Amino acid sequence: MRLVYSDHYDLNLGAHVFPSVKFRLVKEKVIRDGVAEPNDFLEPAPAADADVALVHDEEYIRKLQTGRLSYLELVRLEIPYSPELVRAVWLAAGGSLLAARLALEGGVAVNVGGGFHHAFPDHGEGFCVLNDFAIAIRRLLVDKVIERAMTVDCDVHQGNGTAAIFASSPSVFTFSIHQENNYPHPKPPSCLDINLIDGVGDEEYLEELDQGLEQALGQFRPDLIFYVAGADPYREDQLGGLKLSLAGLEERDRMVFEKARERGIPVAVVLAGGYARRLEDTIQIHVNTIRAARQSATTRAGLRGL
Ligand SMILES: [Zn+2]
Repeated sequence: MRLVYSDHYDLNLGAHVFPSVKFRLVKEKVIRDGVAEPNDFLEPAPAADADVALVHDEEYIRKLQTGRLSYLELVRLEIPYSPELVRAVWLAAGGSLLAARLALEGGVAVNVGGGFHHAFPDHGEGFCVLNDFAIAIRRLLVDKVIERAMTVDCDVHQGNGTAAIFASSPSVFTFSIHQENNYPHPKPPSCLDINLIDGVGDEEYLEELDQGLEQALGQFRPDLIFYVAGADPYREDQLGGLKLSLAGLEERDRMVFEKARERGIPVAVVLAGGYARRLEDTIQIHVNTIRAARQSATTRAGLRGL
């Protein structure tokens, strides 16, 4: 299985609840734990501006590139603006496109970054500047590499940007399972939203996810799934109010990969949020997701060998 990563994914946030050093720490632990080897990682190119413009307004792109966001736009972003931030989000978008292409070739691939699902066409918010995987999906649709895509968003926060971007795109099915009583407010409707009440734990979450995936994949057959594997449904998360355990999150990952594998649908993974009290937990959750991705890729390859 191939993974996509750049040392420049770090969003340069300093002391912030979003631990943007996590990308590097996840990559290092993946190698240390033997989940992948250094040679499995590919370095992305930044997304082309023309690709970014398939999702985002020219005016917003120009403001980002010239550092001319207004005070209110910066407040809404909730992260400090810097040239490093701009470089990082263009790279994350290029990385998600590369991961999608690798998934289409090999069944499963991971962008060790991205998942910026709160970014809208004309603005960023909630730590998300560019909607990296929406950009990748649009590019693949335009190139007719795929005809239909699905987003499976398991971050604790609803995928509002993604829902808005694809609201009138019949070729993209957006699925989000999240805590209802949490940012964002309002929640533009996804094709399927599962609104969970506060404090939902492993058993109920996995049941709801199971039903949701069956419903989504029963009515829509995508050529590619983007799995938005947020680490923040974890019970120790500072910005989440669900109660999943580490084992429950691993089961979540396996369920998503298995349902896709059964149907022969490639999966590209993006990391999205994760704000555990202990940074090690956030790193562990992401590494577990990558291990599950790798196992799914191995199973697929084994079956092809038969
Ligand atoms: Zn989140």
